[in-house]
Amino acid sequence: MTTTQIDWSKIKHFPELKERPDIEGVLPDLIYDLDKFRDILNRTIIVSPVNGAIVAKSGHSPNSYHYRGMAIDCFPICNPKEVFYTLLDYNPFGGIGIYFDTILRNKPTVMFHFDKRPLKPSGHRTWWFRYKHKRHYPSEFSTFGEFFDTIFKHIAEIQS
Ligand SMILES: [Zn+2]
Repeated sequence: MTTTQIDWSKIKHFPELKERPDIEGVLPDLIYDLDKFRDILNRTIIVSPVNGAIVAKSGHSPNSYHYRGMAIDCFPICNPKEVFYTLLDYNPFGGIGIYFDTILRNKPTVMFHFDKRPLKPSGHRTWWFRYKHKRHYPSEFSTFGEFFDTIFKHIAEIQS
C-alpha cells in the first residue's frame, strides 16, 4: 500500500484522521470533500471510531467502496435532516448511505456513509438506507419521494 498523498495542511476539521491506520490508501479527494462538506454543514462530524470505517479489508458488503479507499462512515452531530439540506447544496459523493441501526457512545445515532463512486450512467447517485440491518434502495419504492419520506420518518423515530 502506498502512503496517502493527503496534504494535511489543507484539512481544516479532521487532523486526527492522520493518525488512523485505516486512512492508509484512502483517496485524498474523499477527505478533502468531507472536510468541505463539514465546513458547509457547520456541525461536528465524528468519523466512526471502528477500524475500517475508512479503508477496510473486510467487514463491509462485498463490493464496498471501503475496499477501494473511496468510502467513509461518519456521525454528523446534528439533526440528520441538516445533512440532507446541506447535500442539496454540496454533494460530491456518488454513493450516500444512511444507517439507522448504528450506535455511537452507547446511543443510537444515525450514521452516514459517503463514497466517491462515479455517478451512474444515468447521471444519478446511489442512495440507500439501512434499517434494522436491512438495506433499502429507491427502486423498492414507487417514487423517489417515497424513499426520502421513509428516511425522514425513520429520522423522526430515532429522535422521539
Ligand atoms: Zn460505509
